[in-house]
Amino acid sequence: MKDICAVSTPLAEGGISVIRISGDNAVCIAAKVFKPLSCKSVENMAGYTCAYGKIVDKNGREVDDGVLTVFRAPKSYTGENVCEISCHGGIYVTKKVLRLCIEQGAELAQRGEFTKRAFLNGKLSLTQAEGVMETISAQGEYALNSANLTKEGRLFRLISDMSRKFVTILGELAAWVDYPEEDLPEISEDNLRESLKNALAGLDKIIADHDSGMILKNGVDTVIAGKPNVGKSTLMNMLLGYDRSIVTNVAGTTRDVIEESAKLGELILKLSDTAGIHETDDEVEKIGVDIAKKKLKNAMLVIEVFDISRELDEEDLELLEYVKKLGKKVIIVLNKSDLENVVERSQLEKYSDYVIEISAKLDEGREELQKATEKLLGIGGYDADSTIFANERQIACAERARKYLAMALESLDMGETLDAVTVMIDNGANALLELTGEKATEAVVDEVFSKFCVGK
Ligand code: GDP
Repeated sequence: MKDICAVSTPLAEGGISVIRISGDNAVCIAAKVFKPLSCKSVENMAGYTCAYGKIVDKNGREVDDGVLTVFRAPKSYTGENVCEISCHGGIYVTKKVLRLCIEQGAELAQRGEFTKRAFLNGKLSLTQAEGVMETISAQGEYALNSANLTKEGRLFRLISDMSRKFVTILGELAAWVDYPEEDLPEISEDNLRESLKNALAGLDKIIADHDSGMILKNGVDTVIAGKPNVGKSTLMNMLLGYDRSIVTNVAGTTRDVIEESAKLGELILKLSDTAGIHETDDEVEKIGVDIAKKKLKNAMLVIEVFDISRELDEEDLELLEYVKKLGKKVIIVLNKSDLENVVERSQLEKYSDYVIEISAKLDEGREELQKATEKLLGIGGYDADSTIFANERQIACAERARKYLAMALESLDMGETLDAVTVMIDNGANALLELTGEKATEAVVDEVFSKFCVGK
């Protein structure tokens, strides 16, 4: 295979940059651009060793100094010979070192090509490769844990165990269907049913966890609603001010206006404040009301804020009714808990199971708000050591597998022929094998790696 190279660190000014070369001739190429000072020759460097030296152009002129790390096949990330040149982290010098490698015969790597080679050389399964990508894009603890579990092969083993069982069953079924007159042991329908049920339960969990994973990864569109002066802005500031790791640019968002995002525990709330939704003749106010209604319609979560020191009025009730009709997930916040409470809670409990008291001004009640939100969105109580958030591709395969395996179970229950059951199990097992990458088409593999960045 041809030798490839790329800058594996972000192309921005920094302390160091790493240029990676992989392929049969990686060490020869590195030897031409790197002249070691701490050892005799690059060619004689053993795997897992480094050398300090000069990076030179083809005329022997010094470009930079740095460190070369050598990995020998198959003990490298890609399974091939790999050399990593660390130079100073300037954009120009980094590009120059990359160009030197290309001049010496390496080709510029495609997106994800290093990891793709690792997959093709059997160093990683497809799901493990996806775990690498998820580690890079993880924005929180849960996502990182999940990525690590995937990377270490947990998802692969889980699905692979399932599919192996079905492949064995398919072998037995085929023998039984093809040679009915032979004296083969009767297929135990009970065992088959048991395997199908276990697989379905496993797939159900993966699919359910995926939905929560999406919420944790992508954040929650949240509207803070309430009439003027109840403390919406103060609440927004409380949420934004608490954790300075504010995410202002959420990847993958399609909205043209990105409001501010705040972290509440592991959740990213994409917050927007609204004007009221009351009837009005004022043209300018009307525009505000329309925008507010649109935001409410698009939100996943609505935090309705009321002033605990004032009785609920028409405008409050109008909001409660309006949001109720939209069928949104609602948290009712009674703000200003530092003042005397004059609100009848039971009036509000009709609208949400989550009525909490806070004082936005004093930054009190954040924990209750977090707990309520996690419960409402169904993401509380995760065991971070065992929960895997599968990605879209994996979920599509899991759903396909679930569909066919459920149909197989149904056919079995309805007493259909084992022929029919076999077809369903075959389709289900194929979907599982596609999930793990054991039977993925080239197009699927290309698609997976096209989502990587160059240099990974
Ligand atoms: P908004 O119009 O709903 O955005 O309300 P603001 O956030 O501007 O708050 C209106 C007033 O209520 C301000 O004077 C705030 O200082 C006050 N306020 C907000 N939260 C609290 C609270 O928890 N306790 C008390 N006592 N006052 C608050």
